Amino acid sequence: MSTTPRKAGRHFLQIPGPTPIPDRVLRAMDYQVLDHRGPRFQEMALRVLDKVKTVFKTKSHVLIFPASGSGAWEAALTNTLNPGDKVLMYETGQFATLWHQMAQRLGLKPDFIASDWRTGVDPQKIAEKLAADKNHEIKAVCVVHHETSGGLLSDLPAIRKAIDDNNHPALFMVDTVSGLGSADLRHDEWKIDVTVAGSQKGMMLPPGLAFNAISAKAIEASKSATMPRGYWSWEDMLAANKNGFFPYTPATQILYGLDVAVDLIHEEGFDNILARHKRFGKATRAAVAAWGFENLAREPYHSPVMTAVMMPGGKGGDAYRKIVLDTFDMSLGAGLNKIADRIFRIGHLGDTNDLTIMGALAGVEMGFEIAGIPYRKGGVQAAMDVIASHYAQKQPVAQAAE
Ligand code: PLP
Repeated sequence: MSTTPRKAGRHFLQIPGPTPIPDRVLRAMDYQVLDHRGPRFQEMALRVLDKVKTVFKTKSHVLIFPASGSGAWEAALTNTLNPGDKVLMYETGQFATLWHQMAQRLGLKPDFIASDWRTGVDPQKIAEKLAADKNHEIKAVCVVHHETSGGLLSDLPAIRKAIDDNNHPALFMVDTVSGLGSADLRHDEWKIDVTVAGSQKGMMLPPGLAFNAISAKAIEASKSATMPRGYWSWEDMLAANKNGFFPYTPATQILYGLDVAVDLIHEEGFDNILARHKRFGKATRAAVAAWGFENLAREPYHSPVMTAVMMPGGKGGDAYRKIVLDTFDMSLGAGLNKIADRIFRIGHLGDTNDLTIMGALAGVEMGFEIAGIPYRKGGVQAAMDVIASHYAQKQPVAQAAE
């Protein structure tokens, strides 16, 4: 038995992923394990491999590795490129930095466009690099759709346009580990060649599935790509998936969960999901502004997924988060790497609703008071105004009473 006293009610998991799992998904995973080479598994896997495509908005293949999102990074690079290839990457923050590091470790030659961790990808800078690359040495443009270290959303269609305007043949690779299911993502329409994602954020699942949605162009590239790959081989995965199987033991339980999670996404509807996340982003930013704090994300890169709040005085984020956790049983996201302790992050993604966000913001505001951090009152009120006005426009009382 634990020696720490029980906290009543549910834990507020307000980090930008992993996110809370809906009850229906939890129940779907509470099943005895199936033989992953048997017919019942096969039937489920064929269904899931097909329906998951709708979330990526693709008619092409979506490969599912039993791995964390980082595995999907590695699969994307090793299946499509040759050792020593030049790739264009963009320093949006910690996750772009880690992907860049991985590319270096794998023997690629990344050109890493430097940035300040407060802005998303500037499509103009991508365009300039591609325009200067007359010999088409750049083999892939790799960007993070939603940079989770700072809450920065990049404009993927504008980046696609930068590639097209320069008639550049580079593959377009997008990490949407924290974007999928929370921000708009259209694999086919935006001609993304490899979409990299994970299960534990907007997909409302436990960590453990890594996704690669792959275009015909990416599959073609994989046929001649010479980077060594074993576990991550698309070829093996595609061959096994054709019959509803995997080249090794899949994460059976999470696949049951995925089956239901995709249903939940369709039951709510993409437009509603995107609007909900935007509303939470707007409400949280209104609270941050009213408290007199600064959002790490500069306009127009702010995010529907999470908000990174800059600590006044530039430090104390970790001590503050500990106070909130100890007092209210709420986990807020930490600042990572060079912004460690300088910020805290409020996740507003996944299976969350208006009152959860309001509860979270109330905990944040009370936390300032308890921690003795100077702030202006009224953040929670400002967020309530955003949320209430959203519904007020739709349901005026006069109409409701009729
Ligand atoms: N990319 C982004 C944008 C992320 O937010 C994360 C994790 O939070 C990753 C990649 C790495 O995923 P994982 O930690 O599941 O390996």
